[in-house]
Amino acid sequence: MSQSQYPCAGCGANVEFAPGTNVLKCPYCGHETALESSGARIREHDYLNFTSLPRKPIAQLAKHVFVCRNCGAQTESDAISDRCRFCSAPVVAELNARDLVVPEAVLPFVLDKRQLRESLGKWAKSRWFAPSGLKKVTEAETAKSMYMPHWTYDSNTVTDYQGQRGEHYWVTETYTENGETKTRQVQKTRWYHASGTVARSFDDVLVTGTTKVTQKHLDSLEPWPLPNSQPYRPEYLAGHETLRYDVEPEHGLEAAKQKMVPVIEGDCRQDIGGDEQRVEQMHTQYNDVTFKLMLLPVWIACYLYAGKTYNIQVNGVTGEVAGERPYSAFKIAMAILTVLVVIAVIIGLYSIGKH
Ligand SMILES: [Zn+2]
Ligand SMILES: [Zn+2]
Repeated sequence: MSQSQYPCAGCGANVEFAPGTNVLKCPYCGHETALESSGARIREHDYLNFTSLPRKPIAQLAKHVFVCRNCGAQTESDAISDRCRFCSAPVVAELNARDLVVPEAVLPFVLDKRQLRESLGKWAKSRWFAPSGLKKVTEAETAKSMYMPHWTYDSNTVTDYQGQRGEHYWVTETYTENGETKTRQVQKTRWYHASGTVARSFDDVLVTGTTKVTQKHLDSLEPWPLPNSQPYRPEYLAGHETLRYDVEPEHGLEAAKQKMVPVIEGDCRQDIGGDEQRVEQMHTQYNDVTFKLMLLPVWIACYLYAGKTYNIQVNGVTGEVAGERPYSAFKIAMAILTVLVVIAVIIGLYSIGKH
């Protein structure tokens, strides 16, 4: 297994990709090396072709053994890029497509530590009933910058559906109230059989490629500015940790279909028309499936509060924050007490007014 480290032209230390720039920067002497365009294009793989080839399950792949160019130490890791365990010099694995899918695209980090601190600060301030300790979240020093593997899928879908179209009509109903006979208009629905075919092309349906981070949190970091992605090159990973995917492309496709189904169902409803729709059956052909692996930038911060660790994730481009937060029992109790006092005062004033 080979690997890359990028020695600084100024001092020989290992340079790192600097968020929000297009340069590799030396953390020691500040020397910058511009990343020149490699001329590569982002391409998608043909899914059927890919799945017909023999392949080792990702879970059976050995860990990378990084040998640090800086200090000579070995670091064993299943990350694609990491830091040397001893001198923390950045190391990036050189991937070959024989063993695993090589990333096609990367969305480079834009948010640096200073901007991360701002995003966290805003987030902590806007949390209701957060304990004062939440302010500590803004200490971004221990935060880690990580690229998260994601799969994207394209497909031209054709769906045959069966369902029903509901049309509203009104009837006049007679009823009795306090011995009086009255009438009212009541809405009813008449149902008709409906069937048809809808087609939709999906582009870059995004699903996570790792089980190491809570899906719910990754989802709430969306949207990702995917048009800003760059063709994969290991330089973007230098100085940041990159998780290897552990969700196989086949499982990713199933997850992507779960995201496509509600959209297709919406198309069916549109096609059925009328005032209400029932979609009873959909049969979808997923044609021309292509996919790619891409890396998305996430800052991971965690903090300890009352003996419990909370994780926070921040979109490394937009600064969107997702994460767990503690509630302050004291602040909530005070708020409830305030509401009770206000109610008591209102009732008091009301009863005074009545006398
Ligand atoms: Zn240097
Ligand atoms: Zn080292």
